[in-house]
Amino acid sequence: MVTKNESNHTPMMRQYLGIKAQYPDMLVLYRMGDFYELFFEDAEKAARLLDITLTQRGSSAGEPIRMAGVPFHAIEQYLAKLVKLGESVVICEQVGEVPAKGLVERQVTRIITPGTLTDAALLEEKRDCVLLALAVQDATLGLAWLNLAAGQFAVLETAPDNLAAELERLRPAEVLLPESLVLPGVTDTASAAGGARNFSVKRLPAWQFDTDTAIQNLVRQFETHDLSGFGCDGLDVSLGAAGALLEYVRLTQGAAISHVTALQVVQDSVYVRMDAATRRNLEITETIRGDTAPTLLSLLDTCATNMGSRLLRHWLHHPLRDRVAIHHRQDSVSVLTGRVGSIEPVCQAIHEYLESVADIERITARIALGSARPRDLSGLRDSLKRLPVVADRVIALSGEATTRHLVILAQHMLPQPTLVDLLVRAVREDPGTVLREGGVIADYYDEELDELRAIQGNCSTFLLDLEAREKAATGIPGLKVEYNRVHGFYIEVTNAYSDRIPDHYRRRQTLKHAERYITPELKTFEDKALSAQDRSLAREKYLYGLLLEQLAPYVGHLQEIARSVAETDVLATFASRAVAMDYVMPVFTDEAVLQIEGGRHPVVESQIGSFIANDVRLGAGAGNECRMLVITGPNMGGKSTFMRQVALISLLAHCGSFVPASSARIGPIDRIFTRIGASDDLAGGRSTFMVEMIEAANILHHATSQSLVLMDEIGRGTSTFDGLALAFAIARRLLEKNRCYTLFATHYFELTRLAEDYDQVANVHLDAVEHRNHIVFLHTLSAGPASQSYGLQVAALAGVPEPVIRTAREYLRQLEQESVTRNRQPDLFATMHDAVQPERQPEHPVIGVIRALIPDEMSPKQALQELYRLKELAGKENSRDH
Ligand code: ADP
Repeated sequence: MVTKNESNHTPMMRQYLGIKAQYPDMLVLYRMGDFYELFFEDAEKAARLLDITLTQRGSSAGEPIRMAGVPFHAIEQYLAKLVKLGESVVICEQVGEVPAKGLVERQVTRIITPGTLTDAALLEEKRDCVLLALAVQDATLGLAWLNLAAGQFAVLETAPDNLAAELERLRPAEVLLPESLVLPGVTDTASAAGGARNFSVKRLPAWQFDTDTAIQNLVRQFETHDLSGFGCDGLDVSLGAAGALLEYVRLTQGAAISHVTALQVVQDSVYVRMDAATRRNLEITETIRGDTAPTLLSLLDTCATNMGSRLLRHWLHHPLRDRVAIHHRQDSVSVLTGRVGSIEPVCQAIHEYLESVADIERITARIALGSARPRDLSGLRDSLKRLPVVADRVIALSGEATTRHLVILAQHMLPQPTLVDLLVRAVREDPGTVLREGGVIADYYDEELDELRAIQGNCSTFLLDLEAREKAATGIPGLKVEYNRVHGFYIEVTNAYSDRIPDHYRRRQTLKHAERYITPELKTFEDKALSAQDRSLAREKYLYGLLLEQLAPYVGHLQEIARSVAETDVLATFASRAVAMDYVMPVFTDEAVLQIEGGRHPVVESQIGSFIANDVRLGAGAGNECRMLVITGPNMGGKSTFMRQVALISLLAHCGSFVPASSARIGPIDRIFTRIGASDDLAGGRSTFMVEMIEAANILHHATSQSLVLMDEIGRGTSTFDGLALAFAIARRLLEKNRCYTLFATHYFELTRLAEDYDQVANVHLDAVEHRNHIVFLHTLSAGPASQSYGLQVAALAGVPEPVIRTAREYLRQLEQESVTRNRQPDLFATMHDAVQPERQPEHPVIGVIRALIPDEMSPKQALQELYRLKELAGKENSRDH
């Protein structure tokens, strides 16, 4: 940093450093003629990031000035690149005239930060841009986040260990936090746990997170007496975060963020919760490799508008627990799947109507921020004009079956006539792209502008008309009205008629044979004509500013319209996907069940030709209360696919979507957990096994009897005995303590024994058959444990050389032999009952059960049940002995 005595610097460098000092962690782009220049460290950084040349020019305070610059006309493309890299940029423009001597004045005119984008050129169309502020107090994590381009502002208070889940859910572009706060996964080098999930981190002074100041700030923003209307009672640390966030946005955006009018208080319990790993494992909006397809979102997103696509992404990450809200969605989807005159489904027709609707949500934000462009307004106007037709169609097409929810959505789509009228009157049919070139405000909107334009257009007509009038009035036949660049407009009269010159003619120039005059009327016209161009542009600019002000009161109304359009779009999308991919409406029940008949994995199904559907029955029903399926079968058999499909079907159901199954009955679900596949968090310095155990610990701590837990290959990351022991203990804990719905896929065949000890456990397997040295996966889920692991066959299929397979086969044979004779570690897929009995006296089964009991964790009732069980077991063994 350049810290030398500032007075030694050149005046321009002093001006620069003065501005730079206010934005130490942003890149300052300093306008110099046709370039934006960066200096010193900023120049070095920009040269690296943008691949532009770093130069040195002159020196200031004895130090060479390092600089790098970008041409002003290409600025947007450089901004886009910098923002994508997580940088914030301050644009400093020359203002006022360039003085003959001395320094031109400069001002910060724009601050662009990754989390506060509203510019169409910088925003991703189908993804929200979120700014998040975090604070921690005692054992509470406070979050406040703002989607500036949509005007949505929300807070949440939760436990600090939910941070990773929240970061994954919100996917912020920028995170604000108090100077000294250290949070796992939030580093100043701008990357979250997992490496690929980048956001830029800004540190703010801790006092900016003060709750009392924040409340005053928020009240001022919302123009309310207090915050009670938003349901903020009892909140503290999240409000502090909200206040700091608001200040930051005010600073970077200038004063007006009038479209942010409310604060939503989000409760943890409103959504089916998913931790960060689950969101990633289920590949909801991003594949595990970080691609955008194939994912659940890429499969479903056939939305007609970008607003719809963004809402769909939001819904998929926010499955609802509120059954009433889900039913509203489901019923509407059901109506929208209906057919119009038995030809096309309603949803398709509605999508066609929505296709030409502009991004009203983002345009509205730009109106509120005063940065809407002319084409934004014409797009808005055309869309608003169209919406009554869309609303009509939504209701008409849905026919008698229409739901109240759809009717409300349609009604909320209707724009106020005064708004449409204003836009129609004010904005040209096809306005210019940039305001400074004019041609934006419509004719007949403003008399003065019409006149200015008329002057430019009708100059010659006016002059001929004036000439004729003056000739008639004065009776001078040779009178001419003319113009030259030096003298401007004049009336020329030859000296022969000098006696007929009226009094109001003022002499302008004397020629040899003639005099040139000007009249007040001509002077007025001259003033107008000469500056008509400039003045009409200035007038348009003024009127445009006024128009944005007149539109500001409609911002809330427009946000409502945008929401209704987006929701209608998503519901129509659910419907159209349901029709195209043969989904059914899931049924919700209060019983503790999860029953899916003919379930399919939505994404895998779309990737391969024929998918084998499978059933799952968990929870009560048919007498037994099955809580855990232990799933065995060969690699590639379809275990992961099956487990994920159960989670995805549950997730989709809670979003209000139909699901890929022939039927689904779903009881209350509070969370979905997954522990799937090996993922090294090398960036976070954690090994596969460590990640596996952290995720397992999280599940054991938080899963409830209403949680759906997927456990894939737990314990694979360590030695066989360790892993098996852990897997066994974890499974038992899930059964006894958590009592959640668990799908437990494993290679440890020993775990299939759990079904003998627990009524709540059922064994299922995915099978394969060998056919002429080939292995064919059946992908069908059947009852009971698998009989073989097919490890060698899968290896052969994968192209492991035949000699290696032969050696392995031989080695396996030896191992199996040894295991039988020594009864050491048995082959994991040799059935336990076939194993040779150990030579020493077998332990009585009652002892095993007693050993497994954890008295401290048992309720009196459970203790009593166990006692009965032991007694029964002892009785059985006794009768067997005799
Ligand atoms: P596992 O977890 O048992 O190793 P996967 O679930 O990864 O197996 O499945 C391997 C592959 O088998 C999948 O990529 C998919 O192509 C195919 N597959 C899985 N389940 C099915 C199914 N039910 N129907 C058709 N193909 C399937």
